Amino acid sequence: MHDFRYLGRKLYCEDVAVDALARRFGTPLYIYSQHTLTDHFQKLDRAMSPVDHLVCYSVKSNSNLSILRTLANLGSGFDIVSGGELQRVLAAGGDPRRCIFAGVGKTESEIEFALRRNVYSFNAESEAELQRINRVAARLKQIAPVAVRVNPNVAAQTHAKITTGTYENKFGIAFEQIEGVYARAARLKHLRLRGLQMHIGSQLTSVAPFEQAVRKVLPLVRQLAKTHELEFLSIGGGLGIVYQPALASGRPEWWKTAAATNILTPAGYAARLLPLLQPLGLKILLEPGRFISGNAGILVTRVEYVKRTGPKTFVIVDAAMNDLIRPAFYDAYHEIVPVMRRRGGHIKSDVVGPICESGDYFCKDRPLPRVGEGDYLALLSAGAYGFVMASNYNTRPLAAELLVSGRRVAVARERQPAEEIWSGEKVVAWLR
Ligand SMILES: *Cc1c(COP(=O)(O)O)cnc(C)c1O
Repeated sequence: MHDFRYLGRKLYCEDVAVDALARRFGTPLYIYSQHTLTDHFQKLDRAMSPVDHLVCYSVKSNSNLSILRTLANLGSGFDIVSGGELQRVLAAGGDPRRCIFAGVGKTESEIEFALRRNVYSFNAESEAELQRINRVAARLKQIAPVAVRVNPNVAAQTHAKITTGTYENKFGIAFEQIEGVYARAARLKHLRLRGLQMHIGSQLTSVAPFEQAVRKVLPLVRQLAKTHELEFLSIGGGLGIVYQPALASGRPEWWKTAAATNILTPAGYAARLLPLLQPLGLKILLEPGRFISGNAGILVTRVEYVKRTGPKTFVIVDAAMNDLIRPAFYDAYHEIVPVMRRRGGHIKSDVVGPICESGDYFCKDRPLPRVGEGDYLALLSAGAYGFVMASNYNTRPLAAELLVSGRRVAVARERQPAEEIWSGEKVVAWLR
């Protein structure tokens, strides 16, 4: 269930009217629902409860400290991809012993930092990395827990920029090479082979590719688990969410029903995968990001101008591709709704930002309610890969972020002051 819905004419986040927040905190503004985050985590956690498991929330999808703390309080582990993300988890009060460290380019200093903090496992993506982890662990007189990321070479049926489980991608080690890699890694004295990991892509909207990948690696996992006494199998993240509720439900006013759910439900996911996973007797790790944070956040923006030129209507808003790059980067669809509904019919519009790029748009030729200067719009499903991918392009300050819980509202990140953007810069001495 989502906690963004209309009560009367106004869009609410939980028990708080969004228009009041936009006026009070300014725009562009990210608003997150703590209840939605909690609900998504718990649904998945409960669905997997028949097996020993740990949900490791993917920090890169939304790494705000309040989001991390919400999940840490629920007992979540964390999937991290950099030393910076580990520092964030620590700053948020998360447990490093519940962290798994992924990524193809871990540096020596990141490995050392993670070893000193006793992360649960490094998910290694190459033999060179295994050797490097072994070397750093030897220097620290430690044994490093590792898993290797297997690339099962299955097509994830998703956007090319977010598929990761085929041999065209830089991720993991080819399925056929894995046994050899484990045999050689077993001879490295400062490694402990703790598990096997995979992650085939993002925004998968059916269970089929997950099932296909799990089926493919099962015999390999059984073999490795026996030979090397593995403790876990991570089946990665990638669970997709509904971005086009109107299309998915056939009802444009889906929020009225409060029944908008993820196409790929935790129950459906678990029902297909548990029968395969349970007999392994291993601990199962999951690495969901978008599934937990995606529909827990919206981006609120103010209409600055409505410009009609030729056949087109451009709704120019104060948010831009630097705040939410998904439409420009992935051709992503975000539902756009008025924060306050009015009568007045619909008109085909392009919602665009003020950045000097043709790619700076949120939608094109989409029938939207008529709006005017000063109205607020909300881009839905903006909780994952939204703020975290923001930049300062065009010297635009990073947006503010709010956390809402029931009637409570708090700033989870202050709006960035403009001067901060160039605070590390200098006019070099010879120019003065
Ligand atoms: C990005 C990533 C995830 C999370 O992906 P979602 O699609 O947000 O669930 C999980 N595991 C790894 C290794 C990743 O790189």
